[in-house]
Amino acid sequence: MHADTYRHRGLRRTLVEELRRKGIRDERVLTALATVPRHLFFEPAFEQHAYQDKAFPIGQGQTISQPYTVAYQTALLQLRPTDRVLEIGTGSGYQCAVLLQLVPEVFSIEYNQILFENTRRRLVGFGLRPHLYCGDGSVGLPGQAPFDKILVTAGSPTIPRVLLRQLRVGGALVIPVGDEHTQRMMRVVRESEDEFVREEFEDFRFVPLLGQAGWPK
Ligand code: SAM
Repeated sequence: MHADTYRHRGLRRTLVEELRRKGIRDERVLTALATVPRHLFFEPAFEQHAYQDKAFPIGQGQTISQPYTVAYQTALLQLRPTDRVLEIGTGSGYQCAVLLQLVPEVFSIEYNQILFENTRRRLVGFGLRPHLYCGDGSVGLPGQAPFDKILVTAGSPTIPRVLLRQLRVGGALVIPVGDEHTQRMMRVVRESEDEFVREEFEDFRFVPLLGQAGWPK
């Protein structure tokens, strides 16, 4: 039986100290990572990998993002407690659980049907209630827009305009953009109905964002 023990909490505190040394400064984000039991998003046989600052395979050729990446992207969102957030690329559900520590309403969309089913079961089992969807998130979730924040957790070839149009004025999109090897983290803030301001941050390496506004499937 998977449980969250004193030992796991200690490992999380050590991981959070490592993230702090690597430059993550947002205390609310660090507290969220110290709270969510990352090992419960791993198969029991692999849980010893959960508190290393590394991405890890979750099946279907996909990965749970590195804790540093989760903390970095979450900090860039500059979440306010009332934000409605869309995550594109639910994967294991870990990032979604981190977001739910900071805001009450998270929409998350996953393309892979098997991951979607497994993760839905896992999150419901933890008593978490995000709005989960299965489908091509590269075009967002127009029926639920606008969002205050949109977070893309897979590497995109471009900044999809269709996602920018689903932001509320004052809202922001955080998205890694690049080729299949490296992607630059970008934040695009919607300043007004048709004014967008783009900032660029560090380089990362993500699995590809597939679909209509991403890479061909
Ligand atoms: N956020 C995840 C977590 O916490 O485990 C990690 C995400 S993993 C790096 C990227 C995910 O994006 C994969 O699960 C992949 O199937 C999904 N994905 C790729 N293209 C997608 C699309 N167009 N719509 C939704 N999900 C997509």
